[in-house]
Amino acid sequence: MKIRTKIVLLFSIISTLLLVVFAIYVSYFTYDSLQTKFFHRLEENAVIVGDHIVHQKDENRELYIQVKRKYLKQLSEGTDHLIRVSKGSDSVQFRPELPMPKTFYTDVIRHGKGRYMDGKTAFVAVFFYDHLHHENLIVVSEGIDDYGHEEQRQLDRTLITGGILAIFLIVLMSFYFADRLLKPIKDINNDLDKVDIAHLDHRLFSKFSNGKDELGILIANLNSMLSRLDISVQSQQSFIGNASHSLKTPLTIIGGEAELAQQLLPKEHEAYYSLQTIAKYADKMELIINNLLQLSRMGFKGEVDNKVIIRIDELLYEIYKAEKSIHKELKLSFDLTEIPEDSDELTVFANPDLFFIAFSNIISNAFKYGNGQQVVVAISSDSKNITIKVFDQGIGIPQKDQPHIFTSFYRASNVGDIYGNGLGLVLAKNIFDLHGAELMLRSTEGQGTLVVVTIPKTPF
Ligand code: ATP
Ligand code: MG
Repeated sequence: MKIRTKIVLLFSIISTLLLVVFAIYVSYFTYDSLQTKFFHRLEENAVIVGDHIVHQKDENRELYIQVKRKYLKQLSEGTDHLIRVSKGSDSVQFRPELPMPKTFYTDVIRHGKGRYMDGKTAFVAVFFYDHLHHENLIVVSEGIDDYGHEEQRQLDRTLITGGILAIFLIVLMSFYFADRLLKPIKDINNDLDKVDIAHLDHRLFSKFSNGKDELGILIANLNSMLSRLDISVQSQQSFIGNASHSLKTPLTIIGGEAELAQQLLPKEHEAYYSLQTIAKYADKMELIINNLLQLSRMGFKGEVDNKVIIRIDELLYEIYKAEKSIHKELKLSFDLTEIPEDSDELTVFANPDLFFIAFSNIISNAFKYGNGQQVVVAISSDSKNITIKVFDQGIGIPQKDQPHIFTSFYRASNVGDIYGNGLGLVLAKNIFDLHGAELMLRSTEGQGTLVVVTIPKTPF
């Protein structure tokens, strides 16, 4: 679930709950206060009726008529019940047809009054000592609070419609606030999209953060991290440039001197071929340094220069020849059973020098770690890709080392004293990545390794 949805949900649920609790609170206390008021009114009515009977005074009669008139409307459904109680007794002999239990009347005689609710109908009973008559008197006033109930209904309706409107507004507002709250994060994400290795000088900014809140501090921290990265990448770039440059000059001199010395010697001389080899490998090394320099540059740019159309089978054969000239004992065979008949099917669009480096690494690994066994290179092609498989039956790679072999300088634990730096596969993988090709490695310790390179065909 997105953070925005979470904020909206949380805010809406909490606010709605608060609203509902508030509405229930208001409704309940209004009901309670309306009921108390109505009970008071019924009590006043009972007292006046009782007083009128017990005292039989003229002014009471007048008041009785006035009050009756006043309450007639409000107590429209109401009736008064007169119950006689023998003096000294605490219970009634003749109960009228009312819903109250017998104990209710006993309580009224004891405490002077009592209240009772039966559905919507309210009852208030008041006890009077009657000196004019033989028996005391209980007046029970009965009534339905139509006005109160109507008022309550009205209030509940208002609370419900107002509540629904408020919830609707809360949801709208929570969308607005969630957006507003997350705007700086959106800005950071948009800005971060623009940052890559070639644009490390880009800095993050959000006008919705004042720089002092948590997101402002996050932006400042990310910016200072970008500055540090920028400085370190720049120094790394200049180091690679300087180192390559410093290596190239002596290599050119070695190559040049070797060629010169070669010209001065007759072909039959023993040293002639040694000088030829020195000149050849000085050239190769210069090429490799150039390529490394180019690789580091294109790594920074994320793209490859100098791409041409090359035949992958010819490139692999060239690598084979180069490896064979160094390692005479190399046993390598080409599996051409799946090779397409049309040589156009074997062309790829790539930088040939970089592909040379990448495939040389893979083939030289198969040879180095191949226990002197046969290495097989298979080429196949389908409508989308050209696939090159390199098998060996050597020492393999232990399971625990396999996740790390594409990390610079990492070498498996079973290499023993086989020489290597742990850079070849990283370089190869980088080169293939930059060409949109895929490098996959499957290996079983003690049995051998299979490297599969899948290169997409370029549509012409
Ligand atoms: P270099 O930088 O000279 O190539 P390296 O061969 O050790 O040195 P990588 O080519 O990057 O480095 O290979 C990394 C590791 O992967 C190797 O050290 C080795 O442990 C393992 N490895 C790679 N290819 C094979 C293979 N065909 N058989 C067995 N182990 C392999
Ligand atoms: Mg290697």
